[in-house]
Amino acid sequence: MEPASKKMKLDTTARIRMETVVDCPLTQDVGTVNVCVGRILEKKHTRSIILDLNSKHPIPALSHLKRIKNDRIILCIRNTVDDVAKFLVDLNIDCTHLGDFAIVEVAKNAPITRKQFESANAKWPCNFHEDKQLEKLVNNIFSVEELDLHEKWMRVAVKTAKEFGRICASVVVDPSTDSLVAKSADNRDNHPMQHSVMLAVDLVARSQGGGAWPLLSIGQYNTVTECKVLDDPDDGPYLCTGYDVYTTREPCIMCSMALIHSRAKRVFYGAPSKNGSLGSTAKIHTVKELNHHYQAFRGLLREDCERLFDKSVVSNKQSTS
Ligand SMILES: [Zn+2]
Repeated sequence: MEPASKKMKLDTTARIRMETVVDCPLTQDVGTVNVCVGRILEKKHTRSIILDLNSKHPIPALSHLKRIKNDRIILCIRNTVDDVAKFLVDLNIDCTHLGDFAIVEVAKNAPITRKQFESANAKWPCNFHEDKQLEKLVNNIFSVEELDLHEKWMRVAVKTAKEFGRICASVVVDPSTDSLVAKSADNRDNHPMQHSVMLAVDLVARSQGGGAWPLLSIGQYNTVTECKVLDDPDDGPYLCTGYDVYTTREPCIMCSMALIHSRAKRVFYGAPSKNGSLGSTAKIHTVKELNHHYQAFRGLLREDCERLFDKSVVSNKQSTS
């Protein structure tokens, strides 16, 4: 019999394909830029040279870099050493104790993640303050227990899609109580806007005393949360605040924006879509100008979600959530 710890590791590995959809700057390389560096000929002049350079030629674009590496110091951004001595003299910088000018490649942009920092720091010493939450997100770190929960709710979405013979179904969950708030299947064959995510958000609104569409047999909202009508709406959560959304297909731009407006906390989807807006054609959830941001994860039970497509006899209209 396998030890429990080994089994746990295997389980995690098997599910590793669920990944966080992050903003491009988090996954891109930090890039490089050429700088001219000089050797400090006598160590005792190090401090005065740093002060001289920092006051007469600060380089704000490279503020993420340390100016010194051993006995070498960054003088200026340059592709060639040819005019550097004249450049420094014109700035009234004392070059008496500097020599061996050379061009080296350094990181162009400040590192945001540890991986970027390690790449940047290998070129030239770099400043970095690790954001532990961000690292967890970028590295997609979920415990086995958390993965169990996420899979459980995605299975509800898959089951809902099967029940109604649809490709797309969505489930809204309150993770603080691990309870269903609303679930819905796609209904766009009857109404162009009734994608499963739109229906689910409307059902959440209904559970809070609102809602725009009449209740359909295609959606269901939890009768317990239906009763949670707030005395003072300003006091309580707004629509999907704090809620997780599980949807079989990557949401389209309309649904992605509906999830922004309704303040979803996290969105998990199974299969990508060519019209999807959380990784395929755009990353709506990372647009800085929007007033709310949720986290997005793709690939949760991807095979199960894609199998819905194989068996479905409905049109491609349903290809996004
Ligand atoms: Zn949609």
